[in-house]
Amino acid sequence: MFGLIGHLTSLEHAQLVARDLGYPEYADQGLDFWCSAPPQIVDHIKVTSATGQQIEGKYVESCFLPEMLANRRIKAATRKIINAMAHAQKHGINITALGGFSSIIFENFNLSQIKQVRDITLDFARFTTGNTHTAYIICRQVEQASRQLGIDLAKATVAVCGATGDIGSAVCRWLNAKTDVNDLLLIARDQERLHTLRDELGRGKILSLEEALPLADIVVWVASMPKGIEIDPTTLKQPCLMIDGGYPKNLATRLQHPHVFVLNGGIVEHSLDIEWKIMSIVNMDVPARQLFACFAESMLLEFEKLYTNFSWGRNQITLEKMDLIGQVSQKHGFRPLLLPC
Ligand code: NDP
Repeated sequence: MFGLIGHLTSLEHAQLVARDLGYPEYADQGLDFWCSAPPQIVDHIKVTSATGQQIEGKYVESCFLPEMLANRRIKAATRKIINAMAHAQKHGINITALGGFSSIIFENFNLSQIKQVRDITLDFARFTTGNTHTAYIICRQVEQASRQLGIDLAKATVAVCGATGDIGSAVCRWLNAKTDVNDLLLIARDQERLHTLRDELGRGKILSLEEALPLADIVVWVASMPKGIEIDPTTLKQPCLMIDGGYPKNLATRLQHPHVFVLNGGIVEHSLDIEWKIMSIVNMDVPARQLFACFAESMLLEFEKLYTNFSWGRNQITLEKMDLIGQVSQKHGFRPLLLPC
């Protein structure tokens, strides 16, 4: 049995979903209510691999909302994640992905120190961040979607916003080692971590977002922003490929420009329909087949019976692990989401 711990992208989103699912008493509630709401299993899932193998899973809604971070409700935020993990373990789930901000909160607030949640002793080997698969899928999206647009990577400048993060650093490592990308622009706020990354890569320019955007043919967005930002598409190169892997999205609004192409980053498409309802709630275009790559990682680990925290900690994603998860991803019928033809 695999598990997915997820959350909605904003209070407004949570209220809409509650109304849609027939919980009007949740729909009218503010942040205080969500801060005290317990985790819930809201979906039971069946997935069939391209090999014919079938597995089952559960989706655990943690009731975390990004506003909790913006409003300094840190205790509530951390409690949501740790309680959702205990809930997953209590229900006998072998391997659970910590989706979106769940793993960011786990790492940033040192939740590995909390092992005991009421009568549950958390076994961290049963959880994975899913970030190895997410980073692998974003790299394949860079390679394949650039080809769709006729952008030659050997001549292209790729900017990574959130470059020092777990996913961002893995993307930089891959692009550096496995592609002939012409130039890498590294964007984040902490300068020391940026310099450490540049030293590790042996290349890359450290620039602010404002400096980097007009220079980039491709922008990979993997910054942990609780709320998306607005950018002016007329300041970008044409064509420009924007791969937005943030959850919530790093880009606040869908850019309307004929030569700026925005791709939903870190999303995979399965070759067969999945029996679940959760992906329509997070507004996937094809909810039966499209999903977050981090969730797919827990499915892959279940298919392969790899009951281990495959992705864990920060900035430890290796190219070997990306290759391995990439191979099993293809074997079981997942492929990176690309631009519509
Ligand atoms: P990390 O916390 O490891 O890294 C976040 C990165 O973003 C750091 O480099 C951080 O550096 C940077 N950052 C944060 N805020 C800003 C800002 N305002 N401007 C520029 N850089 C910023 O996060 P992850 O790598 O785990 O996750 C990144 C994103 O991917 C998140 O939105 C997450 O929800 C999403 N995600 C998507 C998945 C999918 O399946 N599609 C799966 C898992 C995560 P600094 O603090 O120095 O600025």
